Amino acid sequence: MSQPHAPTPNVPLLDLKAQYATLKDELDATMIRIAESQWFVNGPEVEGLERELAEYCGTEHAVGVSSGSDGLLVSLTALGVGAGDEVITTPYTFFATVGAIHRLGATPVFADVDPVTYNVDPNQIADKITPRTKAIVPVHLYGQCAEMTDVLEIAEKHGLAVVEDAAQAIGAEFEGRRAGSMGTCGCFSFFPSKNLGAFGDGGAVTTNDADLADHLRSLRNHGMQPKYYHSRVGGNFRLDALQAAVLRVKLPHLDAWTAARQANAAFYDAAFAECGLDSIVTPTVVRNRHVFNQYVIRCERRDDVRRYLNENGVGCEIYYPLSLHEQECFADLGYQRGDFPHSERAAEETLALPIYPELTDLQKGHVVDTIARFYGVGRQGVRRAA
Ligand SMILES: *Cc1c(COP(=O)(O)O)cnc(C)c1O
Repeated sequence: MSQPHAPTPNVPLLDLKAQYATLKDELDATMIRIAESQWFVNGPEVEGLERELAEYCGTEHAVGVSSGSDGLLVSLTALGVGAGDEVITTPYTFFATVGAIHRLGATPVFADVDPVTYNVDPNQIADKITPRTKAIVPVHLYGQCAEMTDVLEIAEKHGLAVVEDAAQAIGAEFEGRRAGSMGTCGCFSFFPSKNLGAFGDGGAVTTNDADLADHLRSLRNHGMQPKYYHSRVGGNFRLDALQAAVLRVKLPHLDAWTAARQANAAFYDAAFAECGLDSIVTPTVVRNRHVFNQYVIRCERRDDVRRYLNENGVGCEIYYPLSLHEQECFADLGYQRGDFPHSERAAEETLALPIYPELTDLQKGHVVDTIARFYGVGRQGVRRAA
């Protein structure tokens, strides 16, 4: 039996073990140190992480919380969002953005996305403002900041709070300003698949407002101050010391990981351009430091491409297959198909490819070759014809 080809590499969408292998000794020692300290919730590790995160994000304060979802919930709670209020956001985001608004009894009001960046289109926001509007929640989707200058201008004009959903965008910048430092506050997630991932759930809220930071600290611990006295109702939204300690080991490596994600994105951009494929559209970076939590292409026959990639050992995923205005749980909001055409089209046409920092050139080449083969334009062939 002959073996004419090198074995095709397997390319998972994300390989957390590859990152763990690079920091194993330090992470293992950290977990043992926390076990020996038996200090599990909040405390010095969380405070240390909060200082380091605030510095990284360019803010005065960071408050560790139990997840990105809870960060959104406590932020909106602290800003006084509740029954009867409206909060403007995008229908093309992870569910948590809108779930937080709904859970507080407020009404999510959607504004369609820009078809190039998939972030909320500021031109769609102005029409949606009513006397009940309390806040805007722009999402920095896939690791690229929303058009914050315009969003902030609209918010200022109407006296609205801005909660940045920066769950996918730690370290991203808009015209030199870091994600989480531009709005009233910014919410981050340390879910393992985010660019800075914990060993479980975790999150943080950044802000330059000292009173808001105090309010958030109180809300994450049942509004308790002093012990067993409650001036307001919060919840258990605390961050574990173990997660904070793991994140403190990883944070110094984040910029190198981001650079690797950006280099992977550049590899794909160049390779797809070389193929001359007009069936796919690669991501557009707009006046930003895009941190590529996801590398998302728009493509013809998306579901067939996805199946073909999976059959050929390439992981990929659809973020997100159904816009939030069309979700069953939000039927009462009264939206219909066709209300947000850019969002709906994105849900039908986009596909996220593997972009994690440890990808090898062989793996990236396999991703591109497989897509090129699907559309029948092999990379080699194009190069020869040129
Ligand atoms: C991941 C994510 C969240 C929620 O974060 P969790 O830590 O998983 O609760 C919120 N918004 C967006 C855009 C996300 O990607």
